[in-house]
Amino acid sequence: MKYDFAVIGSGIGGLTTAALLARQGRSVVVIERGARPGGALRRFTRQGIPFDIGCHYIGCLNHGDILRVLWEYLGIMQMVTAVPFPEDGCDVVRFRDSESDVCAYYHNDRYRDALINRFPEARHAVDGYLKEIETIINTIPFYNLDLPLEPFFRGLWRPAFMNLAEFIEKLTENRYLQSVFAMPTLLYGAAPSVASLGVHAMVAWSYLKGAWTLEGGGQALADAFTRLLASQGVEIICGAEVERITTDNGRVSGICARDMEISAENVVFAAHPSHLPAMLPEGAMRPAWLHRMQELENSWSMYILFGCISSERLPDAYRWQNICSLVPGLEGYENSPDFFEDGPLVFSMPSGRIESDSMDASLGTVVMKPAWWGDIKGFEHLRKGRRSDEYRLWKKKQQEKILELMEKYFDGIINCLKPLAFGTPLTFRDELGTPQGGVYGVLRSSGQINPSPRTSLPGLWLTGQNTLMTGIVGTSISALGAAGEILGLEELWNEVRQCR
Ligand SMILES: Cc1cc2nc3c(=O)[nH]c(=O)nc-3n(C[C@H](O)[C@H](O)[C@H](O)COP(=O)(O)OP(=O)(O)OC[C@H]3O[C@@H](n4cnc5c(N)ncnc54)[C@H](O)[C@@H]3O)c2cc1C
Repeated sequence: MKYDFAVIGSGIGGLTTAALLARQGRSVVVIERGARPGGALRRFTRQGIPFDIGCHYIGCLNHGDILRVLWEYLGIMQMVTAVPFPEDGCDVVRFRDSESDVCAYYHNDRYRDALINRFPEARHAVDGYLKEIETIINTIPFYNLDLPLEPFFRGLWRPAFMNLAEFIEKLTENRYLQSVFAMPTLLYGAAPSVASLGVHAMVAWSYLKGAWTLEGGGQALADAFTRLLASQGVEIICGAEVERITTDNGRVSGICARDMEISAENVVFAAHPSHLPAMLPEGAMRPAWLHRMQELENSWSMYILFGCISSERLPDAYRWQNICSLVPGLEGYENSPDFFEDGPLVFSMPSGRIESDSMDASLGTVVMKPAWWGDIKGFEHLRKGRRSDEYRLWKKKQQEKILELMEKYFDGIINCLKPLAFGTPLTFRDELGTPQGGVYGVLRSSGQINPSPRTSLPGLWLTGQNTLMTGIVGTSISALGAAGEILGLEELWNEVRQCR
């Protein structure tokens, strides 16, 4: 059988693109190298406790917001239980040299009031920040659903190229407030000195209108898509790493995995584009494009500690709050050798707290610390399953350092947290397939032009977090954009928008 589309990769990007294509009657197959579909959405368990990897909270699920509209269109919304955060849900900013925390609420007005309360002299800066974000958002079709898609995709959207650090420094000299404004960079993994205000606005805005979580975490979303695709007649083949994309007469003809060949008119690539040069036949694409894909800079990597915490001992507030320990000023976000000591440390609210209301339950929680790839110099050659004792020892030390930092900055939590697993940039490189373990895919910077869904090879398309945007919302938007490029941007957009 010759499929219309073979989608490589079953993260939220691949799954959403596949579902959009299938909904328009195209025959689709999804090929995934992992044992289960879902990519970063997958949950894993340790000692029976569920842990989310890449889905802790989600924005844009209010009525009329893009993710809800898209999921309504696909029928996903009816298959998952989305739970809104209560009004006091927030990212707590805890400065290392100051006693008073700042609550960055997932709600525009509360966020504004909390900041003005803490920084009364900087009222104009707070209003200026929020106003500029809203102004930018209103020019973006996925946030202002009245706008057409074409001008956005054809490069008429300009504010993306303004630099974030310059913008923040112009607004205020207060280093504490600068840090708060820059905090959403933690959700796309770029230092403010390289980040673009446009991307920042999209990410920040997603959570200023409310945050949501899903019963069953990211896995519930992966499972819903799996059921949806099955009902659409889409097969998901797991445990098959695509090694080559084949061409015939100058257009895509299919894919080859280890012991499998699949014929397809089109291939949609939903993984990191740096792998493409090795997968394409010689001469299929211009050398300059291939070089660009290989040299793309990536978002930060991370150290991640998965531990369990007794529900009874977890302070109530922490059920709906992330706590972020920061040094004041924008340098604290700079990717450098000092990043480990001075960079942000994030305690994320536990997965599984929605499903488990029993007080004596153990909940899985995650502590994250952005990482510099330079940290793992010397271990880069070690692949999964072939790590050395030296690496294991080094990894143990990093885990101990994180626990020390937690003791310093999150006092009270460390005593009731039992570490169960630990990941380093190498873990992310090998699990997510991003060079340098970039957790949010390619870097969103004002200086880098990231890949677009269209390529010059007929039948080859790109989707996922490495195209337009990252995060669950961003990657879903990227998938909508990719499917739109294939099926007709405005036609698809008009159909999707009817679900608002
Ligand atoms: C630690 C962490 C925390 C996060 N927290 C949040 C959060 O709270 N909220 C939020 O919105 N976002 C969060 N994110 C980001 C979000 O999870 C990602 O942006 C999104 O899931 C990326 O989806 P994707 O489909 O582009 O890529 P992925 O999910 O990485 O999927 C790519 C898939 O392609 C497969 N693949 C790769 N190469 C091949 C091949 N050759 N053949 C076959 N298959 C292949 C991979 O196995 C993988 O399954 C987080 C991410 C991480 C890592």
